[in-house]
Amino acid sequence: MIIELSRVPDGGEQVEGEESADILKLGDVSGLTILSPICYRFRVELVSGELVVRGTLALRAAFDCNRCARRFEKEIRVPDFICVRECRELAEAIDLTEDMREDMILAFPNYPVCSSGCRGLCPLCGVDLNEKTCSCRPPADNSAWDALDQIKRRME
Ligand SMILES: [Zn+2]
Ligand SMILES: [Zn+2]
Repeated sequence: MIIELSRVPDGGEQVEGEESADILKLGDVSGLTILSPICYRFRVELVSGELVVRGTLALRAAFDCNRCARRFEKEIRVPDFICVRECRELAEAIDLTEDMREDMILAFPNYPVCSSGCRGLCPLCGVDLNEKTCSCRPPADNSAWDALDQIKRRME
């Protein structure tokens, strides 16, 4: 996205639109499908020789859950996008593409799960523990972690 400084009115302006998700240059990431363009809503202002752009970015994507492998959709949001650039002359055009790309990518979950309470698949028999229970016993060395997990689940 390019902002031409000469077109920014005094007092700034609100801009909204969509940018193709191609700018993310994600290529093929397994377990991830981008479902929408990047929607942006910015407040654009020139403040004492600097271009100040603040706003939000959002995009919809589908992920494979890291625990149960089910596909789920999620909106990825950047609630506090901000970009400040010094501008020397009004003829300049400032390209925000790289800033948008970085912030959007950082907002993606590292470990996508369909819900924080997802029980995942049994590591022994492969049953989806969200739907069924099985009679497998988890390996003994996992028990400390399970206990912690159960405390967390009770807190949710
Ligand atoms: Zn899941
Ligand atoms: Zn099992």
